Amino acid sequence: MLNTITLTGGTHGNETSGIQLIRDWLKFGLPSRFSSLNVDCSLANTAAIAANVRFLDEDLNRQFTTERLAGDNPAREAVLAKELNQKFGPKGNTRTDFFIDIHNTTSNMGATLIILENDDFNVKLARFVKQAMPEANILVEDEKAFADHGYLCTVGKKGVMIEVGAQPQGVLREDVYQLTLTMAEAILDFCVAWNNQDAALNELPSCEAFRLGYELKFPLDEDGMRKAMIHHSIQDQDFIPLLPGAPMFRGFDGSDYVWDGEKETYPHFVNEAAYHKLDVAFSTSDRIEF
Ligand SMILES: [Zn+2]
Repeated sequence: MLNTITLTGGTHGNETSGIQLIRDWLKFGLPSRFSSLNVDCSLANTAAIAANVRFLDEDLNRQFTTERLAGDNPAREAVLAKELNQKFGPKGNTRTDFFIDIHNTTSNMGATLIILENDDFNVKLARFVKQAMPEANILVEDEKAFADHGYLCTVGKKGVMIEVGAQPQGVLREDVYQLTLTMAEAILDFCVAWNNQDAALNELPSCEAFRLGYELKFPLDEDGMRKAMIHHSIQDQDFIPLLPGAPMFRGFDGSDYVWDGEKETYPHFVNEAAYHKLDVAFSTSDRIEF
């Protein structure tokens, strides 16, 4: 039974879809079909939202490991993380049954549901959302235990992220907003069905999903300068298979860098602006049945 649901936007202050959706639902209320749910809507990093930046000092969405929450880092987001943990958690002994955190990406990932656990609840949630919204992508990041992630949504007993793009930082696109709204409503529809112990949840067919591999970096020279850019053939092609031998980078010397994996991979977060300073070009994934 999901007695308390937290829905947040603005964990990153320049990701506007969730910020606007939270503002709209606070102002106009949630659709009436969710009246049986206890949903707390809130904006996570209001100072970053006011400044229209991802964060002021450090990435808020990496602060929620047990170690960091127990540390004494003076960064504003580290301090805020402790406040949010007290408000919605605390992590490990939490008042929030289900935590939904809304994000945007500059990558062309469409509406992506990021799932962090491979258990009955999350499998049924993924299948339900995929059935309600066939254009959705399901991304599974279960390479480590749920509680070991530093994500805000791990403050809940269960937690997921909505990740929608492509949208430039600080810009609000109506099409991306609609995808965000549709996915948020699909997740809340699932919550109603879950609380009602709807037998139809047991009949949902398995669905396509993508399991995170690793972050692939841009090639750098000995001075740390990039030697290449994302090849046009994979730009905006998130979750489209990249085949062995196919180009992934265009070198500034005119050469191509090809994918040298033994099998195809499914790139995502391709050319994500927020990962620029980390030199992350994209993340790899495998296509799975979930
Ligand atoms: Zn984000």
